[in-house]
This record gives sequence, C-alpha cells and structure tokens, in this order.
Amino acid sequence: MSDVKLLGLYNKFNTKGHKVKRSAFWWDIEESLAPVNDQEKLPLEAEFVIVGGGYTGLSAALTIVRQGQSVLVLDSGLPGFGASTRNGGICSGQIRLSHSKLTHKFGLAYADEVYAEGIQARLDLAKFCSEEGIECNFQMAGRFTGAMSRADYESQSHEAERLNEIAGHKAYMVSKADQHNEIATDLFHGGMVREEIGGFHPGKFFSGLLKSVKEAGVIVRSNTVVWDVIDLSPGKKSVITSKGKVNAGKVIIATNAYTGKQHRVGKFLRRRLVPAQSCIIVTERLGVEKVKALMPKLRMYGNTAKLYSYFRPTPDRDRILLGSRSFDRQEPTDRSVIYLKRKLVQIFPELGACAIDYCWLGNVGFTRTQMPVIFEYNKIYYAAGYAGSGTVWARWLGKKVAETAMGIGNRPSAFYGPPPAAVPLYDGNPWFLPAVQRYFALRDWTKGAY
Ligand SMILES: Cc1cc2nc3c(=O)[nH]c(=O)nc-3n(C[C@H](O)[C@H](O)[C@H](O)COP(=O)(O)OP(=O)(O)OC[C@H]3O[C@@H](n4cnc5c(N)ncnc54)[C@H](O)[C@@H]3O)c2cc1C
Repeated sequence: MSDVKLLGLYNKFNTKGHKVKRSAFWWDIEESLAPVNDQEKLPLEAEFVIVGGGYTGLSAALTIVRQGQSVLVLDSGLPGFGASTRNGGICSGQIRLSHSKLTHKFGLAYADEVYAEGIQARLDLAKFCSEEGIECNFQMAGRFTGAMSRADYESQSHEAERLNEIAGHKAYMVSKADQHNEIATDLFHGGMVREEIGGFHPGKFFSGLLKSVKEAGVIVRSNTVVWDVIDLSPGKKSVITSKGKVNAGKVIIATNAYTGKQHRVGKFLRRRLVPAQSCIIVTERLGVEKVKALMPKLRMYGNTAKLYSYFRPTPDRDRILLGSRSFDRQEPTDRSVIYLKRKLVQIFPELGACAIDYCWLGNVGFTRTQMPVIFEYNKIYYAAGYAGSGTVWARWLGKKVAETAMGIGNRPSAFYGPPPAAVPLYDGNPWFLPAVQRYFALRDWTKGAY
C-alpha cells in the first residue's frame, strides 16, 4: 500500500495530530520495575546463574533461593523489558494447538495431560499472587473467543465438549443470537467462553515478582550481557559476561524470544526457537461505561483467525487494549498502529473516531511444534517457547526448570523432554515470517475473516 493511502487511512482511523506513545501502557505505574542493587560488582560465584530476568528467569530464581541455594540473575537490559512487561496480560495457560489437534498428533492421554497442566499452572499463578501479596489486578474474568466462520463455531463446539471432560475447564458456546450479552459486535459467528481464564496487569505482576525475588536474597543485575558459558570442570561452568566472569554450579537459560543472534550463549536455543513480533495498541480513555457497553462481561477476548487478535479492557476498565501481528521488528511504525486500529474498528465500528494513546511491540517465541519446552543440554537448563501464552507458562515452567536443575521431582511437566528439533535452514533470523504471515492472511481472507 502506498504511503499516501496509508496516511489517508491513518487519518481515518486515528484522531488527527494525536500523539501515540511508543512504549508499553504497563510501564506507567508507580511500582518499581528496576532492580536496586545494580551498581555493585558481580559476585565471583553463585550456585546458580540464570541468564534472562523475565517471568521465567525470576520464577526459577525464586524457586531455587527458597531451597537455600545462591542465585544470580543476569539480564542484558532491564529485567522484564523483554516480553514480560510488554504482553497483553491474558492469563490463559493455553497452548497453540487445540485439544483435538494435540490428540491427533500425540494421542489423547498426552493432550489431556497438557490441558490439565494448563489448569494447574493457572491456579498456581493465582495462588502465588495471593501468597506473595502481589497486587496485579488478577481477575478470573473468563475469555470469549469469537468464531470467524460458522465452521470455526462448529470446531469450537467440539473443543468445548472435549475440554469439559478435563477437570477445571468451564467451556460453553454462545450463539450469534446471544453474542451481544458477551460483546457488542456482529463480527463473529458466536463463540466460546472459557470461564476459567483470566487476566492481570503484567507490569504490576512483574514488579511484585521482582520484589519477592530481591527480598528472598537473589542478586539481580541489569545491563549485563552474557556472552558465553564454558565448562570449567565437571559440575562447574564459567559464565562470561560484559561485566566479568562468574563461576556457576549450574546455569539456566531464560532468554526465550530475546535470545538474539549476537552471542554464543544463545547458539543452541536460537536454532530451535523462532521469535515473532506481536504488536499492541491501547485506546485513549473511553470511560468505564463505554467499555462496559462494548464488553458487558469485561472478559478477555480473542478470535479464531489465523492472524489472531487478542483484546481486553485495561484493568481500570477505562480503555481497550488490542494486540495482533506486527509489521515491524523493533519499534512500531504508523503502519502497525493503523492495522491494529482497523482491527479494533472492525470489531467495534463506533470506535472509529477514538484515538490511540499507546503502541508497542515485543517478541513471542515459537518452537517447531508450537509447544513450550523445558530441557537440558550439556548440563545447561532451558525453558522457552510459550507461543504467546507465557503469563502462565513462563512462571510455571521457570519454577519447573528450576526443580529439574536442582534434581527435585522426576517428571516435572508434560513439556519436559529432549531438546526441541532445530528449524531447518534457520539460525535465528526468521526470514520466512513475512511469507508465513501472508499465507495466514490469505487463509483468513478465504474464510471471510478479516
Ligand atoms: C506483545 C506481546 C503480547 C503478549 N501477550 C500475552 C498474553 O496476553 N498472554 C500471555 O500469556 N502471554 C503473552 N505474551 C507472551 C509472554 O509475555 C511471554 O511468553 C513471557 O513474558 C516470556 O517470559 P520470559 O521470561 O521467558 O522471557 P522475557 O520476558 O522475554 O525475558 C527474556 C530476557 O532475556 C534477556 N536476555 C536475552 N539475551 C540475553 C543475554 N545474552 N544475556 C543476558 N540477558 C539476556 C532479555 O533482555 C530479556 O529480559 C505476549 C508477548 C508479547 C511480546
């Protein structure tokens, strides 16, 4: 599309002259998002060194330190400023593959095990927030997923039946005729509600997690790039960083979709994990009444499109957040703002004149199977690949990878196993993503999805 057309659309879908803040809505909070002891020198050694300070890394750190072992968390930037404070805050514990697809690929018993673990992980997150006193607006508001076609509605109906056979699931269908009780749109052909899904404020959750981690005695260092991990002697590693070396008993890699291509430390994971960008917009203040009129049950929302959109009220219920694919890799351009605004207006045509206050993007990590993984390779432990559902999985699998590395618990998770398969012809630069997205867009178009 030409720049002139883009500008025309931009004016149509955004308030002229309104400045869109290119940073996460979740960062504008009073709670601290930064470690405090950052200026001190690195310790010479730690029983555990964790590379990456997002939900995975901090959750692993907390699990280990509470077993009485010393832990150092190193992050190349500000901890949490990877995906962990950029996400939509929908707490689903979902995996990409539906229960029926998972059954088809791996068998019914495994599909049941994975979906049961999703319930367990989400409940554990709620318990964790309550025990740690983390005030992060955790609300089990349920999620409505709009069907983009009648065929999708039928598949959702079968899925709901299957899910309800696994303890903890509360899924039911809402027909197109009743849809307005859930959402003020005619876009969908009905949809599925899952009552057990919820949402939180990712920034407040991260801040609370960081506080617990620091109070428990974990040393967290920002702006410390880990370059490499080398073997010293059996049971000892040397972690080479931009601020010196640290000897470690064990190392956990929690760099997920921010592993990057630059450093040797990411060599093994980056061939197995594809980072895809997801972009989010947040509207101007709409007022609680307006948001409630559009989203009467104030749930989390999604749709069945291949180029999936997720949306929700912000925790104060004053704005609407919507996320989907990104056209950009680093910073969101106007093209992404326009694209997302257009998606919002397709759902809620009355928001055509509303302004967008925030837009940002971040990386989401996919393995070849689109399933999360925890594994060990060369005595280094990994957890990654949450495929856009890491608010639940990253904290849970951070805990599980820590237990694995400490040798407590024998089959810690359905996702524990050998390293995931490498992606052919790929070494960390996802050159094929634009083609995949075009293919998905075509599939959506052919079935009448937007
Ligand atoms: C836009 C967006 C929307 C999302 N929405 C949702 C949602 O609604 N619901 C949901 O469940 N999930 C969502 N997710 C996914 C979720 O946010 C992630 O799965 C989760 O935060 C991953 O946490 P993590 O700790 O594994 O990784 P991150 O938080 O990305 O942490 C990895 C860290 O590793 C550090 N690092 C990388 N390399 C090095 C190195 N060499 N040395 C030191 N440090 C290094 C990085 O600086 C980074 O801080 C979304 C993600 C994005 C980007």
